[in-house]
Amino acid sequence: MITEQIKKAIRDIPDFPKPGIIFKDITPILKDPALCDNIINAFVEQLKGTQIDVIAGIESRGFLFGLTLASKLGVPFVPIRKAGKLPYTIKRKAYKLEYGEAVIECHTDAFEPGQHILIHDDLLATGGTVTAASELIEEMGGIVAGFSFVVELGFLKGRERIAPISDTLVVLAE
Ligand code: IMP
Repeated sequence: MITEQIKKAIRDIPDFPKPGIIFKDITPILKDPALCDNIINAFVEQLKGTQIDVIAGIESRGFLFGLTLASKLGVPFVPIRKAGKLPYTIKRKAYKLEYGEAVIECHTDAFEPGQHILIHDDLLATGGTVTAASELIEEMGGIVAGFSFVVELGFLKGRERIAPISDTLVVLAE
């Protein structure tokens, strides 16, 4: 039900941001408040029984549902951002992209060592970004509680990549 609603709302944009890529545009979801509500409720339902102390949202679309989900669960939200965006003292992690390298950063006081951190993003593709986020969180003493995504690009096999990190994976649509 929720899966079908999400799939119906997502728009495929061919050749964005470069030729040959079909970009999944989730912005139509955001224009449907009932669907946004259903998405949050589905996350809450499927995360029942998982210990979550903090939600870490990945820039930038991971902020959209990540913050609302954190509020609903009554836990703090922390942003994991691209290089140079966070103003306070940071810990950083470089990771490989298909071509080149990217850097993500997190505030050093984002959470306490030993806390269970749920990593949230809008979309799971190769899993490279959330793997780097997991490494960053673990280097800061956090425990990765699991992952949540609105949508997964199954053919890129990101779930195989992140399976060794945590058994908890919530994906609402493929
Ligand atoms: P990964 O690191 O390969 O798993 O890529 C996931 C990251 O890229 C997420 O932060 C997504 O927001 C973004 N991303 C990759 N492909 C798409 C897409 O088709 N639509 C929206 N975001 C995408």
